Amino acid sequence: MLTRRLVYCLLSLFLMCPAVMADQFSMMASEKGFSPAEIEILRTTSKLEGFSELEYKQRYQGPIIDVLDHTHRYGFETNERHENLPTGKELVEIRKTAGVKHTIMANRPNSYKAIKKRNAPEDPITFASHFESVSALCPADFIALAAKGYMELAKQDFNSNKNKLEKGLCLGFGEAGVIHYNKSLKVPAKGKSVRQQGEILSHLDNSYIIDMLKIANKYKKVVHIHIEPNFSPRGVNREDEVVKFYKNSCATYKNVKFVLSHNAMLPPKILGEIFNYCKNVFTQFKIMHGGWGMYWKFHDLNIINDFDLKLHKRWAHIIKSHSDRFMFGADFKIRRSKRISYEETIRRAREVIAGLDPDIQREIMFDNANRIYDLRINWQPH
Ligand SMILES: [Zn+2]
Repeated sequence: MLTRRLVYCLLSLFLMCPAVMADQFSMMASEKGFSPAEIEILRTTSKLEGFSELEYKQRYQGPIIDVLDHTHRYGFETNERHENLPTGKELVEIRKTAGVKHTIMANRPNSYKAIKKRNAPEDPITFASHFESVSALCPADFIALAAKGYMELAKQDFNSNKNKLEKGLCLGFGEAGVIHYNKSLKVPAKGKSVRQQGEILSHLDNSYIIDMLKIANKYKKVVHIHIEPNFSPRGVNREDEVVKFYKNSCATYKNVKFVLSHNAMLPPKILGEIFNYCKNVFTQFKIMHGGWGMYWKFHDLNIINDFDLKLHKRWAHIIKSHSDRFMFGADFKIRRSKRISYEETIRRAREVIAGLDPDIQREIMFDNANRIYDLRINWQPH
């Protein structure tokens, strides 16, 4: 079966067919052992191919505030499994060297699992208390715990974190895992990782979500929230429902600064509509750093780039028109460091935004986070 692209390729054989020959997608796929015919089928499955990319201008060289880092639990880890991982001090040094002036540590959507096993990880607040360049979000695992039916643990977790927030120990709640599918199921067979992700399917009117928003509203804090509106393996598309939830919430809880995880995982146009409706909604973006697994996990979640490390034009448009709403967050997990280190992730992030104007780069990598989280960090060149 010849796809249109293949026909084009054959027709333009004289020109060496640059569209196909030099394309990262087929290179990655053939590395994973897919045949040319299978690659063309995969290409039609992917929702991340075919977007035009912003032209490269100048990589961002300035300082960074990373608003989403998940490595805190490993910094003081003593059990054998994590023996060779960096210490907390080393983690902070690595960030400084990479030009990251400040870091916001937070639990992951799936951190509730450790609490469920009563193996509560080092919490981000304790980690942050050791370092001036680190702040923390108060964990919001109570939502997942409640959605999973661990009502007693949910209650304890909620009360303890409400308390911490009221004492001013954190900048807000997050990363609140509300809807989180097993994204590993999207990775095509040959490149599949063995590890599967847990699934959290909370109702959007879960009483703990409402309680969390009420407290954050009272204290004018951030709520960093992770909701996956799409899950293509099961044909799930909940975009309308999710948009309605954001619009209702931002209007009801006007003092809350909503930070939507990973560019809200919505199409840029829809995110723009939310921005226009809600003055108190922001988003944390991360990059697709080039791994096969991550590509597929986020292919139906509108991540801002593909294997080429170039920003898609559709995202460049909305970043330009709403440049005060975007903040970079690496979303780094220590496990990834086996393949791609934190330094390398930051280096690639600087590349991905290389097509944007310098003043916009500075806003989304530093100024916005400084303002939205009220960090008061002096801007210094890196
Ligand atoms: Zn997330």
